Order: sequence, then structure tokens, then C-alpha cells
Amino acid sequence: MSSPAKKRKRNGVDGSPQKTRSIESFFRGQAARQPEPQLQPQSEVTEQTLSDEALARKLQAEWDQEGSSGGSSSTKNQPVPTERETATSSCTPSIPADATPPAPVTPATPTKNTLSLQSSAGTEDSISLTVPFDQNPQTFDASTYATELRSQWASGGGDASYALLTRAFVLANSTTSRIKTVDTLVNFLRVLIEGDPSSLLPAVWLATNSISPPFDEVELGLGGSSISKALKKVYGLDSQSLKTLYDKHGDAGDVAFEAKKRQTFTLVKPKPLRIKGVYQSLLKIAMSKGSGSQETKQRIVDKLLQDTRGAEESRYIVRTLVQNLRIGAVKTTMLIALARAFLYSKPTGAVYEIRSQQELTRLKKEELAEIYNNAEEIVKASYARHPDYNDLVPCLMEIGVTEELLVRCGLALHIPLRPMLGSITRDLGDMLTKLQGRDFSCEYKYDGQRAQVHCDGKGKVSIFSRHLELMTEKYPDLVSIVPQIRGDGVSSFILEGEVVAVDQKTGDLQPFQTLTNRAKKNVEIGSITVNVCLFAFDLMYLNGESLLDRPFRERRELLRSLFLEIHNRFTWVKSIDATSADSEIVLEFFKGATDAKCEGIMVKALDNTIKENGKAESAQIINDATTISENIGQSNELSETAPAQSIKEKGTRRKALLSTYEPDKRLESWLKVKKDYSTSSETLDLIPVAGWHGQGRKAKWWSPILLAVRNPESGVLEAVTKCMSGFTDKFYQSNKDKYAERSPNVISRPSWVDYNGEPDVWFEPQEVWEMAFADITLSPTYPAAIGLVSEERGLSLRFPRFLKVREDKSIEEATTSDYLASLWRKQAERTKENDSHLYEQQEGLGFQ
Ligand code: ATP
Repeated sequence: MSSPAKKRKRNGVDGSPQKTRSIESFFRGQAARQPEPQLQPQSEVTEQTLSDEALARKLQAEWDQEGSSGGSSSTKNQPVPTERETATSSCTPSIPADATPPAPVTPATPTKNTLSLQSSAGTEDSISLTVPFDQNPQTFDASTYATELRSQWASGGGDASYALLTRAFVLANSTTSRIKTVDTLVNFLRVLIEGDPSSLLPAVWLATNSISPPFDEVELGLGGSSISKALKKVYGLDSQSLKTLYDKHGDAGDVAFEAKKRQTFTLVKPKPLRIKGVYQSLLKIAMSKGSGSQETKQRIVDKLLQDTRGAEESRYIVRTLVQNLRIGAVKTTMLIALARAFLYSKPTGAVYEIRSQQELTRLKKEELAEIYNNAEEIVKASYARHPDYNDLVPCLMEIGVTEELLVRCGLALHIPLRPMLGSITRDLGDMLTKLQGRDFSCEYKYDGQRAQVHCDGKGKVSIFSRHLELMTEKYPDLVSIVPQIRGDGVSSFILEGEVVAVDQKTGDLQPFQTLTNRAKKNVEIGSITVNVCLFAFDLMYLNGESLLDRPFRERRELLRSLFLEIHNRFTWVKSIDATSADSEIVLEFFKGATDAKCEGIMVKALDNTIKENGKAESAQIINDATTISENIGQSNELSETAPAQSIKEKGTRRKALLSTYEPDKRLESWLKVKKDYSTSSETLDLIPVAGWHGQGRKAKWWSPILLAVRNPESGVLEAVTKCMSGFTDKFYQSNKDKYAERSPNVISRPSWVDYNGEPDVWFEPQEVWEMAFADITLSPTYPAAIGLVSEERGLSLRFPRFLKVREDKSIEEATTSDYLASLWRKQAERTKENDSHLYEQQEGLGFQ
């Protein structure tokens, strides 16, 4: 399953329309056809207002009472549907008189139509629904919970219930504290590690909103219609009720939650969902292909919804199906949670040692933070080199968190590593200051698509994108030449470069747009019209050996000396070596790059050493300890980029400049200098989320357009500015076509976009626009980054100007509220510096 963003990006790059309709559009279409409101009677009052947890307790008490009187309720259509039933039973829906009769609903079990009073089902829910996962892991008693739950799961073959995962989701969703989210995940994972390790991997996939790594190309391929059909069939809703609920909540999961609560039904024996079972169902949905696959998928979706026990389960099953979990557990959170969970817990029978919980509880905060930090660094480093939970989780279960993880689950051929990233600089001057005293390489920054090329000893080739998607089928022409670029002695390798569209005769670089005309799949060599050249810039693996720890100078030397150029098909990036003293040469090179239609230059440190007073010193590189104490606290711990690295020297701490290849890190050893930056200092990647009808000449288009940043913790998109500058008429028109009223791309007010105003239309968030601006201001109107720089005010932009659509970016890579806040702080510092500089100047001129 790919994330919605991944799916959208693919569609965007293909230029093809979305293959599946969004759930929002489906609801709208349904409602248009069936206008009469048919909301189900809301008979329950008190139960609706109770949380699942409260209801579970109430339910348990009632059951205990009924159980002790020895009775079982008989079949009946409950006049007052309550969470009690939804938490314990599969159901058949009531059918509105005017609705099309639903297809037969497969009962969960051959039903006796009785409410099960067996203590196991009831007790299971009451434990799962109340387990305090959000406790501090130092005090959380995972073993006792694991033991109790294990005995309950025994009747279901020992498999952990989905109710337990739901509990973790509910707790993670109910907090804005990152610490609580991490604690919840840590404790949840611990209970699985100790109680049912075989459910750990499926749980990790489900909690990360995916079913496979990005390069596996396994997609759920569910349209919004499947989910709305299932909601109607299973919960007895008609189209209008569904639309009403959707308009009210704006989130398919919340609709399912409400629908489940409002359901009228006949009781059948409960059949609890299992974590493994849900995951298997998703795999089956993804695997079913060809004729009849839609029906198969529909049956699985119906069955999943039918088997949910409680409104919260419904909510999360549907959110999983629409691939929008919204629990704020991004990749890094899961890696941190795994690292910490395996410090506390190990599966029965595992031979490696862990500290006892008592021992960990006795540690001082800083000591524990250091232990956490080391474990997290190992797990993150392993995942950055080998981003596949299918390998990482079993390895952790076998050996725990040790350095060996990096060997057992490290760099491997045909598994993409996460790419190293470059830091932005304001301009050439800024870059030269940052690299003062260092030897560096300036390279053309080509405007194409990043490609990670793997070739094994047998000549088998895999090509991966910057986002780790498999692109082998997109570039058969590259695949065919890659084995030939191996010089003497080269057998297997992983290298990186930029694929750029070129004129095959002249070798002239073509713009990025030309490259986007290439189909994504099934490209036949004979029918290629867009020719490409691979400009290699790094070598990470050679003949079975990782080169990640070698300095860039050495990796580059190997890349240039051992590989063979193929005219206009494979070569190396154009570069010069320089130091800060060579500013004119660097400026000349930068001009050459922009003249050749490149985006600017990439500047890379050549060596791991620092130079001070002209004397080279070797650097002892350590993890930045300043992040350690914060790790138990807040801030840095969940940032997507790795902590900065520093050099400890005579008690002082200075930033090191690594020239090693650091997967998934954005360090200052790779700097980007773009031509755009020479005029304005920064650009932002924002998501268009809404629009207003234009005035005058622009009446036929959307103008202004509302843009948002991404809050990765809450999953909410926070409005930051309205923009009506930088758009061409052609762009306005294509934007209007894309977000035409009544098209699937225009949706009801979404609950996950934060903005108080009333735009004329809401866009389905799906693209990223690069925006220039004059500066960032505090705003009473826009909620972006609220709470980060001010409790009452958000941030907004002055003079926002559209630059371009970032075809290569998914919405998950849009600017975050944290980043916006950090830019605001930098801007504030700059203003202060300028003010004091001005003061000094004025003083020098005798103005004071
Ligand atoms: P990032 O990839 O850093 O997150 P981004 O997607 O905004 O940010 P850019 O700012 O355009 O990307 O710059 C980085 C990209 O530049 C790389 O991912 C790569 O595709 C491209 N690139 C082109 N030439 C080079 C080069 N010589 N070295 C490294 N990257 C290069």
C-alpha cells in the first residue's frame, strides 16, 4: 500500500488521471443521485457520548450481571442500538425501505444470533480497551498485560486482537504530545513482543499506514466507492445519510465511527478481528488482480467492516483502507518506538540480553536518554540503509538492538538506501562562509530525476527514485547500458546520479518537463522518444563492500576511475574543486551551470577533516550530545533529519563536516545553491487547499488560492497564506480545470485542514507548489505553526509568489509547520543582526 501522497505523486508524474475516485467524490456523486435525507434514527443517546473505553466498562458490568443470571439474550432487532452491541457483535444491517436491497452480507460465523456472554470475549475487550499504553515505559507493566492477553487470545489461536491496536491508535490520536505518542507505541509494541511476537510485523505495517516498502509496488487499489458501498451495506446507510455524515465529519473514518454507532442490527456471535487477519486482508486486496478482482476486494472490505467490534475499530479500519491513519506516527516515530521497545522487551526464547525493567527504572533521566539515543541511532541507521520492516522487525526479534543490526540489516543490492540530502544556502556568499577553510567540490545541479542504480555481479539492474520507488521499467534504455559502464574489476555496485532528458545528437540538456513526458511503466526501448543521460555523482557500494564511510574524495575517485563513459548516455556530473578563496572561479562555474539550464550547483565537502589555521586536523566524530537530554524530553527527538554531528575537541564542540555518505540525513556537507536563491533567500513548498472565485478578469478562475503547510504530528494542514501572484493565465486555466466544481478534486470542507475562513471551494490536497515570499509575519488569521512561536498567533507570508509546481514532491514532503517556525526564528535573528550592524555603521559614521 502506498501512501496517498505516493499514489498522487505517481499519478501526477504520469500525467494520467487518478485511477481511483476519492471517497469524497463518491459520496458527493451518490448524494446527487439520491437527494432525500434518510438519516438513520439516532436512538441511542447516552451511549453515543461515551468513549469506547467507558462503554467497554459499562458493557462488561452488564455482561457480568447477565452472565451471572445465566441468560443469553435472544435474537432481536434492538430498538436502542448501543456501543455495547457494536463492541461485541457482528451485525446485519437494517435496510431503509426505499434503499436498494444490499447484497447478502456474509455472517461472521454460522450465527446463533445471540449476544455472546463468554467471559473471554468480554474480558478481552475490556483489557484491550483500557490498557494504559500511554504510561511511561519505565513503569508500564508489559509482562503482566502480555500474560493476561495471551490467555485470552488463546481461543483465537493466540493471535493478538485488532482491538489492542485500536486502543493504541485511540490513545495516540487523543494526544498532541509526541512523548505520549511514542510511549503509547513503545508499550503497545512491548505487549506484542512479549504476548504475540508473530503479530508484531503486521502491527508495524498497519501503524505506519502501509503494507509493504515503497519499492515493492504493492498498492491497495481501492476506490472511494468500495468504502462507501461497504459503509452503506454493513451499516444500513443510504446515500444521503452517508453524505450528511461525510459533510459533517469530512473524514471517512469518522463517518464509519458515527455510522457504526447509529447502526440498527441483529446480533450475531462476535468474531473479533485480529491484527494479522486485518493485515492479511489488506494484502489480499492488494494482490487481487484481473477480472472479478473488484468484487473480491469489495467482499474483503465488507467483511472487515462487518467484523469491527465498536465504533473505534470501524474508524481505524476505514482510515486504514483510505490510507489516512492520522495518528501522527510518522516513520521516525515508529523507528524510535521499535528501538525503545526492544530495550525493554524480548520475545520468549530470544537469546540476547536486555536490562531488567527494574534496572531501567533506576536509571537517571540522562542515563536513560543516552541508552535510548544509542538504540535509536542504530535502528534509524539500519532503516536508512535498508528501509524494509519485513527485514528489520524479524532481525530485531532475533538479535535485539545491537550494532550487528547494521550488518544483518544494512546496505544490500536491489534494496534502495534512503538518499543523503543537501542543505539550502541563501546564495554563493552564504555557501562560501559555511565551507570556510574546507576543500570542496562544486557540481552542476542538473534538473532531472534522481536515480539510485543497483547492478549485481550477474548484471541484473534495479533503478530507484529519490522516494525509493522502483523505476526499472521506466528506464529500460538505462538498464541496458548499466552493465556496460562497469570498467575492469567492477562487478557489483550501487551508484547515484541524476537522469536528465538530453538531445541525443547534441547532448544538450532538456528541461525537467521533457522528462515528465516519459511514461512510468512498460516503456519499450524501441518506442522511446525522450532520450536520457545519467549524470553520476556518487558511489555507495562496490564489489560487495559498502563505501558509505569513505570520504567523498575517495568515493568520487572510484566512481571516475572504474566506470566507463558512454556518449550522451552515461557520464559524470560536471565539477570543479575549490576552496573559499576561489570565489571568482566558483561564481564563474555557477554561471556556467545556470547557462547550461541547470538549477544551480551542489557543493560537497571532499574530506572528513577540518582545517584550522591552514593545518589539517582529523576529526573525532561523535553524535551530538546536546540532543541527548532533549531526547527524553521533546523537540529534536522526532525530527525527520538526523541530529547534527559535531567534533569534540578540547572541551569545545564545533560542527563537523562529514564527507561520508550519510543516508537519510541532511547535513551541511552537501549544500545547494540554486539560481532562485540569488534573489530571494528561501522558498517554501506549500499545498494548495482551497480557492475563491476570482474578480474581474480572473472571474473564471480560482484566485486567490489558499495554501497550507503540513503539521506532521497532527496530520493537519495549516493554512499559511492566500496567493494570487506568479500565475500565468494558462496556469490559472489548468488549475480551474483540475479543481473544477463537481470534479473529484473538489471536496467538502475537510476536517484535517485548519482555517477559519470560508473559501468558495476546497481542493483535495494532492500537490506541492514552490512559493517565493518577502518575509514571514505573525498572523491573527492564519493558524500555521500556531503555538510554536506564539500561543495566539500563527505565521503567514508577505507577498507570496507562485514559482512552480513541484512535480517531484508529494504532499508528505511539503514544508512543515516546524520548518516554517524555524525560518521565522532565523529571520528574527537576521533582523536583529542587521539592526545591530546598522547601529554599528551609524555609530561609525558618528550618527549616535
Ligand atoms: P531534497 O532532495 O534536498 O529534499 P528537493 O527535492 O527540493 O530537496 P533540490 O533542492 O532540487 O531537491 O535538490 C536536491 C536534488 O538535486 C537531489 O535530490 C538530486 O535529484 C538533484 N541533483 C542534481 N544534481 C545533483 C548533484 N550533482 N548532486 C546531488 N544531487 C543533485
